[in-house]
Amino acid sequence: MYKLNDLQDFKYVTFPSFDGYDDLIHCFTTRNGGVSDGPFKSMNIGFRTGDSAENVKRNVEIMAEKLNINVDNIVRTHQTHTNNVMYVTEEHKGKMLSGSEIENVDGLYTDKKNIALMSFHADCTPIFFYDPVKKAAGIAHAGWRGTLLNIAGKMVRAFIDDFNSEPSDIIAAIGPSLCQDCFEVDKDVADLFLNENSEFEKYMKTKGSKYHFNLWEINSFLMRKEGIEEKNIELSNLCTKCNNHMFFSHRGQGGKRGLLAGIIMMK
Ligand SMILES: [Zn+2]
Repeated sequence: MYKLNDLQDFKYVTFPSFDGYDDLIHCFTTRNGGVSDGPFKSMNIGFRTGDSAENVKRNVEIMAEKLNINVDNIVRTHQTHTNNVMYVTEEHKGKMLSGSEIENVDGLYTDKKNIALMSFHADCTPIFFYDPVKKAAGIAHAGWRGTLLNIAGKMVRAFIDDFNSEPSDIIAAIGPSLCQDCFEVDKDVADLFLNENSEFEKYMKTKGSKYHFNLWEINSFLMRKEGIEEKNIELSNLCTKCNNHMFFSHRGQGGKRGLLAGIIMMK
């Protein structure tokens, strides 16, 4: 499930299971409400997309203002499809617009308030995490490589190891990203999945010579394996490629696209 929120022309997605917590801000942006043009139209949050830096900066400022987040409290990284997750503290803040990035990190988590964890997406699966008991939040960029490397399970284990979280307390949400029909791969990638875990075959179907995996269900399976309860995993069931008018899609736009942002912050 998801909720589409509308602040004038800035539209963003939230998850009903996360909406109930007053001390939490979370958001997955749409294309709406920014100043960029062409394939970046209009709310492009990504600096390395070919869009003008000035427009991206303006978009970040608009988004932050709409969400009531201080831009200086945002922490972002340069994502490289790893399963590296990082514990974030105040020292990592304040670099959103400076271009100074944390390299090779695809998952961020913290137990500190007023740190806005941000991830970037254009088809790759965003996963949001929150432990309302231990007061910890996280976000992961789980494209197919990150999914294969089990960044979702690694994040759950980080909560358990670092915050003493009970897995049954953790809630998670899987945001807009490629659906099973749109995630089409050849045999070489299919073999990577099947060699990693034979259970992944349950989440695979074939169409002619092509293979399709359900990355939402695989990530859900990987989180359940670490003890998160199925009822605590919310699937938005929104596909970025099927809904390209609403979301940037790498596959839907032939690689010429902006980036959407996932954000989570404890107040
Ligand atoms: Zn789709």
